[in-house]
Amino acid sequence: MSEKRDYYEVLGVEREAGPDELKRSYRKLALKYHPDRNQEADAESRFKEVSEAYQVLSDPQKREAYNRFGHQGMGGAGYQPGFQNVDDIFSHFGDIFGDIFGFGGGGGGGGGGGRRRARRGADIEYPLEIDFLDAVHGCSHDVAVPKHKLCDTCEGSGAAPGSQPTACGTCGGQGEVIQAQGFFRIRTTCPTCRGEGRVIQEPCPACSGRRAVPVSEKLKITLPAGVDDDMQLRLGGKGEPSLAGGPPGDLYVTVRVKAHEDFERRGLDIYSQVPMSFPQACVGTMLNVDTVDGEQELEIPPGTPSGKVFRLYGKGVSAVRRRQRGDHYVQAVVAVPKSLSAEEEVLVRQLAELQDERVQEKGFFRDLMDRLKH
Ligand code: ZN
Repeated sequence: MSEKRDYYEVLGVEREAGPDELKRSYRKLALKYHPDRNQEADAESRFKEVSEAYQVLSDPQKREAYNRFGHQGMGGAGYQPGFQNVDDIFSHFGDIFGDIFGFGGGGGGGGGGGRRRARRGADIEYPLEIDFLDAVHGCSHDVAVPKHKLCDTCEGSGAAPGSQPTACGTCGGQGEVIQAQGFFRIRTTCPTCRGEGRVIQEPCPACSGRRAVPVSEKLKITLPAGVDDDMQLRLGGKGEPSLAGGPPGDLYVTVRVKAHEDFERRGLDIYSQVPMSFPQACVGTMLNVDTVDGEQELEIPPGTPSGKVFRLYGKGVSAVRRRQRGDHYVQAVVAVPKSLSAEEEVLVRQLAELQDERVQEKGFFRDLMDRLKH
């Protein structure tokens, strides 16, 4: 299996490249590799590769997902491009190729005679709530996404079997009507067929003429380690079907991470607190600290002030895309018991008397603040 190349590398641009630079670079490479112009064996695959990269990076939402998740963020087995062949690429990027290959009209009074892009199905957003540690370690979830599929009975036509939709009488099948208002002639969507150009005389009994029926699609969603709240995973073509014969929309799975009782996450770092007793803080001890990888020992040196923060290197969260891992910051806090046993009270009172004078000494608090900082 060949490793999928980084999209920025494919387009030969920096990660910070702006839209204009992306477009320029894509145009240049697309012209270079266009199969009509380039006879080399791999021209078409290179052409598709640059088109795929541009399709992702030119879309802010997709680009963001790619920056965060890499190719994994483009759907389970990598990004599935919304186009199958070179012709599809043209209909996708008509605005860029329009002036190069003569597609897409523009100029000369409209029309243009380019191929019309069949309307895509709608995108779906699906929120997926996961546990804190699942987000840290990565996880798989079986979900049932409520969506629609084209009606089997009428094969998506909306007309009862044996009948056919007929051209709309109001607009003559154009989907648009022209209304005269004073000097102006205004083109508007046909009110009878709502722009579809056809009407159904005899609705399909299975879908009541709606052409699609609700289904719940079972999917296994796999999230990489390190995902965070609000991140989105895109599953190409898993959105709503197109009623116009176009490709289906995309499914965006939005990650919602539940809060954790003990851990707080900021970026790749984890924060938590661990209690220690006053004597432990004074003479030092070993404490067991919970990390995302399980328990770990933490050495508390003698004379540790309450609130002191210890850093456990590399015990935070792994970055999704980069080889990087955050740290875990543990704050050791002196726990003051609400009540004492009789024996404890005697000892604590003795200690209090012994220490009373020292606490009054000048410099005690300055020294304490100093130790908190280091
Ligand atoms: Zn039907």
